[in-house]
Amino acid sequence: MSLLNSLLEYNHGFVERREYESLKTDKFPDKNLAVLACMDARLVELLPKAMGLKNGDAKLIKNAGALVTHPWGSVMRSLIVAVYGLRAEEICVVAHRDCGMNAIDPAAILEAARERGISDETITTLQSAGIDLDSWLKGFSCVEDSVRHTVSMIRQHPLIPRDIPVHGMIIHPETGALELIVNGYPSV
Ligand SMILES: [Zn+2]
Repeated sequence: MSLLNSLLEYNHGFVERREYESLKTDKFPDKNLAVLACMDARLVELLPKAMGLKNGDAKLIKNAGALVTHPWGSVMRSLIVAVYGLRAEEICVVAHRDCGMNAIDPAAILEAARERGISDETITTLQSAGIDLDSWLKGFSCVEDSVRHTVSMIRQHPLIPRDIPVHGMIIHPETGALELIVNGYPSV
């Protein structure tokens, strides 16, 4: 059976068995929290369990590396919607050890794209149109610095209210242990 069919078949049973009933909630996060985390597959269940988050507790935004790469990109937009439309009152950036975006090699990604049939011509055309693929694909070399940078991008965004605490953490992808990198509460 294809992956798609197995997903759909499982879903049919899930709904029929009414397994959703234990997960019922509404769109407002019960902990008034928005989390920006990495999409790493090891964190699918580990991250919410390690942070004590249940269905309905938080707005969870995921991408490769838990990064804000652009002040007007979809991550910032999601955070702004979470704050003004969905009652998020605190933000946590949660990166992790052993992240695939740590020291990712843009040249290797482009080589893999070529092997999958993307032509040199396409890549050259994009580059000559001014798209800097190397910077666009690059990750980070130090996860702590990356978390601090992402926290400050959010913190300094002109549409994020000054009184929203923005915290930064690194989660261990096996144990779920959290390291606090930035405490977003005002220092006393
Ligand atoms: Zn990652």
